[in-house]
Amino acid sequence: MLRTILLGPPGAGKGTQADRIVEKYNVPHISTGDIFRANIKNGTELGKKAQEYMNKGELVPDDLVVEIATDRLMQDDCKEHGFLLDGFPRTVYQAEKLDEFLAGQGLKLDTVIDLEVAEDVLMKRLTGRRVCKACGASYHIVNVPPKQEGICDKCGGELFQRADDNEETAKNRIDVYNNETAPLVDYYEKAGNIAKIDGAAPLEETFASIVSALGE
Ligand code: AMP
Repeated sequence: MLRTILLGPPGAGKGTQADRIVEKYNVPHISTGDIFRANIKNGTELGKKAQEYMNKGELVPDDLVVEIATDRLMQDDCKEHGFLLDGFPRTVYQAEKLDEFLAGQGLKLDTVIDLEVAEDVLMKRLTGRRVCKACGASYHIVNVPPKQEGICDKCGGELFQRADDNEETAKNRIDVYNNETAPLVDYYEKAGNIAKIDGAAPLEETFASIVSALGE
């Protein structure tokens, strides 16, 4: 059982590390960004609302996100196995609402993981990222290129660039992170349960540091 949050700016490698954490700890991966993208793909009302903010690299309004996240946390798999939150909370308000929700269920967070990466590295990672349309696997045109350009190694699906990974929107997302989300590092530090991990190290090294912070 694990109940934790992956904090860190866009491009810090939260999604990549989340895949590994999920595999090792058998815990549901809850990415509010993925939930919104699935809703956009399916043309839902929620998707339409979220899209206008996402395309600009802005945050979706707190109340909407809190409702989506807490609904998801109420599901049976989270009760059974805990959760790994990725991309939520992103504001102090969201963190307070999460705390209220957990307190109401008599639950506590384990160590929060904060992935730290310098800003110039983030920009290169975001603008070079390519994602598989079919299976969601993530690549990078320089760091993790697919064997055949534009094609997913795992499933043969087509790779595309996320609408919010262009230079201008990526920069805005990093600014939004610095203004709105970075204060959460202090927030969880005061709560006494955060581990700062070097997210610029090789992938396996970063993962090993996460495991040592979370415990086997
Ligand atoms: P991500 O996939 O985590 O990078 O999220 C993509 C976009 O979805 C963000 O840039 C926001 O527009 C929106 N989003 C995802 N999670 C949240 C959240 N917790 N609060 C507000 N907006 C969010």
